[in-house]
Amino acid sequence: MVRFTVLASGSKGNSAIVSSCPSGARERGSTACTRILIDAGLSCRELFRRMRSVGEDPSTLDAILITHEHQDHINGLAVTARKLGIPVYFTEATHRAWIRQMTPQKRITYAQWAEQYRASKQASGPHPGQPFPQPDPEPDPAPEPDPVPDPAPMSMAQNCEAPAPAFSIGDVAISPFTIPHDAADPVGFVFSAEGVRLAVATDLGYMPPNVQAQLRRCDLIMLESNHDLEMLRDGPYPWSVKQRVLSRVGHLSNDAASAYLEQTYDGSATYLILAHLSESNNLPELARLAAERALTTKPSLLANRLYLASQHEPLEPVCF
Ligand SMILES: [Zn+2]
Ligand SMILES: [Zn+2]
Repeated sequence: MVRFTVLASGSKGNSAIVSSCPSGARERGSTACTRILIDAGLSCRELFRRMRSVGEDPSTLDAILITHEHQDHINGLAVTARKLGIPVYFTEATHRAWIRQMTPQKRITYAQWAEQYRASKQASGPHPGQPFPQPDPEPDPAPEPDPVPDPAPMSMAQNCEAPAPAFSIGDVAISPFTIPHDAADPVGFVFSAEGVRLAVATDLGYMPPNVQAQLRRCDLIMLESNHDLEMLRDGPYPWSVKQRVLSRVGHLSNDAASAYLEQTYDGSATYLILAHLSESNNLPELARLAAERALTTKPSLLANRLYLASQHEPLEPVCF
């Protein structure tokens, strides 16, 4: 059985779980299952509380995948990863950006910087600026307390046109794909397990061809439907933030999501989950209406079930 649960979705925190259990394994509490947390945007405590409320045991998680380094996706990461002692997967650039965020800023003179740079050139072994080691399924037992277990970054193509390499965690195959968003190296994911394909595509300014291609033949698509254009234009955000949200590296509007559904979507998903809805610039009814209108344009899409992910409570798990 493959199970997908959105724990939270929106600008105050994002997190979801994909789990794959061979038939009968869940009942036996078997370790044959694979359970992956996608983003850790809630506090660890709230993350664990929501997991338990949907019947997921945090201690059985196998790994954490990070889409990008914005706070609403990594807020609880350090504590959660430390508590569970499981690998965290980032792209290299996202990992570097996250380390920068975690490192207290201090001012140094040019001479001090030059000295540090010379020293780092001479030092052997990995250091900031060098490629990270390849993914390692087991976190290194660190002698010193470390904010997180050894990161296991995904190696990712920077270019939208080049397909990103896929990798596996347990029974779940994972294909990261580049998304247009104002972060260091943001990605969406396609998960494949037991013949089921699930896609997660939120935090993207528009739907480029590579994302549209990834969303083909998926049984479940979690798609951003961030804002209503009029609400955003007339809403409380400062002009610069409005421009950022509207830009091609911002967030997907209800109209953009429904345009994709109407024009390009192949209709293969039994479940469509609208996600990352803005609480200031959207209403669930508006997002739903826009998507429903798009889906009713083609009779073949009427069987698609439409759900809306919420910021404040987990969505009912979807099972295959
Ligand atoms: Zn973001
Ligand atoms: Zn976000």
